[in-house]
Amino acid sequence: MGEDGRAVRILHIDIGGCEGCAVTVLRALPLIRQGVGLPRGGTLLKAEVHSKYLGNVDLNREYDIAIVTGSICLKDEEFVEKLKKVREISKILVAFGSCAAVGGVTLFARGGQLPKPEHMVWQPIAVVVDVDYAVPGCPPAPAAVKALLDQIVSGRGLFLNIFASAAKARKFSGYDLMDDVVLTGLCVGCGACVLSCPTQALQMIDRRPDLIPEKCIRCGTCYVRCPRATQVLMRRFPARPKTLREVRGG
Ligand code: SF4
Ligand code: SF4
Repeated sequence: MGEDGRAVRILHIDIGGCEGCAVTVLRALPLIRQGVGLPRGGTLLKAEVHSKYLGNVDLNREYDIAIVTGSICLKDEEFVEKLKKVREISKILVAFGSCAAVGGVTLFARGGQLPKPEHMVWQPIAVVVDVDYAVPGCPPAPAAVKALLDQIVSGRGLFLNIFASAAKARKFSGYDLMDDVVLTGLCVGCGACVLSCPTQALQMIDRRPDLIPEKCIRCGTCYVRCPRATQVLMRRFPARPKTLREVRGG
């Protein structure tokens, strides 16, 4: 049970897309249902999790934490309104995966396909609602879901600052990694960005990463994996992380 006696109520909302991020969250659910937070006296806090498609969600209940996967089509008035309602009923909102967090590959989409040809303007969800944490990745690792929830519930951990700052940044890509880290001489040549890129848009040349622009889908993964870029991110977009204790008034 939560510190105030209630289980942590978690809502996973999928807006749609390739479903890689939604599947990642679903894969993490068995572990999350075992409990969240850092062990206190050997006990995790109980978690009650509901996973829904945005089109079908019951918006009459309240949640401690909502995790949203998928970007939002600005032309879809129904989903835009529903997403705003999700924000209203959730104390903490997480944009999980690159499409929700920074737009990702959907920024390249021009739409026009059946059954909804009017869909053609996708954006990260922060364009419509305030986001507390943004987790880029295409998709992020399932372990990232559990780790972030543990840190939100316990109120401790480095992820909180990085992903709270990412929520304010709204977009970053391989171009930003080049501009902020490589071309400013901050790069230490660790190669983490190259290994994290899902499209192999980065290659090491003379012990420094180089971008292959036509391969970059602007997923932002390299930026949040780079130890030097995350320092730049937190300095440029300072954010006070929201924790479960704070939103419950504990
Ligand atoms: S370089 Fe790779 S990891 Fe970085 S934003 Fe582009 S596609 Fe994503
Ligand atoms: S992760 Fe950052 S520091 Fe490491 S090689 Fe890439 S740009 Fe350089």
